[in-house]
Amino acid sequence: MTALPGEFELIARLAALFGTPPDGLGIGDDAATWPATGDTVQVATTDMLIEGIHFRLDWTSPEDLGWKALAVNLSDLAAMGATPGRALVSIAVDAARRGLVLEVARGLQSLAEQTGTRVVGGDTVRSPGPLVINVALVGEADPARLLRRDAARPGDLVAVTGRLGASSAALALLSERPAPLDPAAAPLLAAHHRPLPRLAAGQLLASRGVRCAIDISDGLASEALHLARASGVGIEIDVGRVPLAPAAVRLLGERRSRELALTGGEDYELLFTIDPRPVDELASALAIDGGLTVLGEVTDRVPTGTARFVEAGQPVELAEKGYVAF
Ligand code: ADP
Ligand code: MG
Repeated sequence: MTALPGEFELIARLAALFGTPPDGLGIGDDAATWPATGDTVQVATTDMLIEGIHFRLDWTSPEDLGWKALAVNLSDLAAMGATPGRALVSIAVDAARRGLVLEVARGLQSLAEQTGTRVVGGDTVRSPGPLVINVALVGEADPARLLRRDAARPGDLVAVTGRLGASSAALALLSERPAPLDPAAAPLLAAHHRPLPRLAAGQLLASRGVRCAIDISDGLASEALHLARASGVGIEIDVGRVPLAPAAVRLLGERRSRELALTGGEDYELLFTIDPRPVDELASALAIDGGLTVLGEVTDRVPTGTARFVEAGQPVELAEKGYVAF
């Protein structure tokens, strides 16, 4: 019996089946692009959240779910250096809970308003059980300044915006500790339920010469590997330099927080590579909590298409490589 393909293998086969568009990016980056009118390109992405897999309605309010469904898509645009955008929102729900549709929509609309996103359509259908929400989002970017996964070059530094591990620390606390949670968990729960996509940071990076980025949806380790594979380079990351969410360290300890920052996911920060020269200038221009942190480098010392994690110069083996669907 042949083994079923994993998520990455499935996507590689889909990419071969659907082919590559001649006039922009197709499957393989955070979003697809094609020429728009004038000097810009359209940038499009879609992501789906399924009850029981990506969220539970006893931990997440319908409003927070709507916010998050848009946030994860906006994060893909941020990772391209793009601006939003118009969105199509599709929701599947069982008949008895159809009142949730409007609650989800209200939460989604509050982030839409904050980010200049307009919802222009979608689909509402009956589900046999789980609630499913899918958002498709189209934005715009300057094609000369796109942030891509395949643009890392040896000699670049590897850096990240903000701090990591907050969202997965919240999830760990929700699943491991009895309610009510310690009030110190509030910033972690906020990061988990209402992530703030790094749209302004993405545009700033793009305008300051950064060319390679990915958003951290599945954990730093997995995203670093995506950049290494797409760019055909080796990446080395010093796990001791990973900036951790302070509340996670306080409630779960440093070791666990570091593990979650590497493999937990849902941070929606940007992982990017940058020429070493303008890094200080960029750091002072980036007005966000946690700023930017240099974690490592793109280097010929690491085999092409792989990411190596070290601590005090010694290689570290990660227990998991991050979230994968299959
Ligand atoms: P992300 O984590 O940024 O959402 P994914 O891992 O979901 O990215 O997807 C990787 C790439 O594969 C993206 O370019 C996405 O558009 C593409 N992709 C994923 N699933 C499908 C599908 N069913 N059909 C076509 N393209 C897909
Ligand atoms: Mg996706």
